[in-house]
Amino acid sequence: VSLVAVSKTKPTWMIRTLYEHGHRHFGENYIQELESKSVELGDLSDIKWHFIGSIQSNKIKGLCTVKHLSMVETVEKQSTADRFAKSWMDEHSQLPIMVQVNTSGEESKSGCDPSQVVDIVRHIISNDVCKKSLKFAGLMTIGSPNAGVDQPDFKKLVQCREMIVQQLGLPLDAIGLSMGMSHDYIDAIKFGSTSVRVGSAIFGERDYS
Ligand SMILES: *Cc1c(COP(=O)(O)O)cnc(C)c1O
Repeated sequence: VSLVAVSKTKPTWMIRTLYEHGHRHFGENYIQELESKSVELGDLSDIKWHFIGSIQSNKIKGLCTVKHLSMVETVEKQSTADRFAKSWMDEHSQLPIMVQVNTSGEESKSGCDPSQVVDIVRHIISNDVCKKSLKFAGLMTIGSPNAGVDQPDFKKLVQCREMIVQQLGLPLDAIGLSMGMSHDYIDAIKFGSTSVRVGSAIFGERDYS
C-alpha cells in the first residue's frame, strides 16, 4: 500500500523534512497552492505530487505544467479527461489519472456516479487523444466520515473495479484503489486500498484561517 502524505495548508518545510527522511508521495487539493509549493520545492528531484482536489476546467492547463506532477486522482467526467489529454504536452510520458467515484451518493461529494464509471474508463482507455496522453491508474473515493464497520464506500469502490475488469477486460492489478484517510485508512487497507491519503495524522490538524 502506498502512502500519499496530504500536505494541504502545511508549510513547505514540513514537506521538505519528510522528503529528507525518504518520503516521496505528497497530495495537494488546491491548484494554486500546488503550483507555488512545487516551485518552492523544485529542487526535490524525485518528489511525486498527487492532485486530489476538485478540478476547475480553466485550471487544467496550469496543473499540467506542475513540475513532478505524478497523478491526478479526481477526474470525474469524460470532458475533464479530454481536457487533460489536450493539455498534457510531454510526448514522452503519459499523465496517470484516477477516476473519482461518489460512492456514498451524497450531493455534496464530488465524483461520478458508480453507474458511470465503466463508460468513463472506457473513454479514457480507448479515445485516441486520451489513450495517447493519459494512463488510467485506478479509482478514488472519499469515505463517509460516519461509515459503520461494513464500510459501504470501500465495498462500492471494490465493486466498481470488478465491473471494469469484467466489462473492459483490464487486469485487476492494473487498477489502483485510492481510499482511506486519517480516520479510516486502516479499514480501507482491509478492504483492499492500494493507496491511502493521510493528512492530519501525519502533519497535525489543519488551520484554514
Ligand atoms: C484533506 C484530504 C485528505 C486527508 O485528510 P485527513 O483526514 O487529514 O487525513 C485525503 N483525501 C482528500 C481528498 C482530502 O481532501
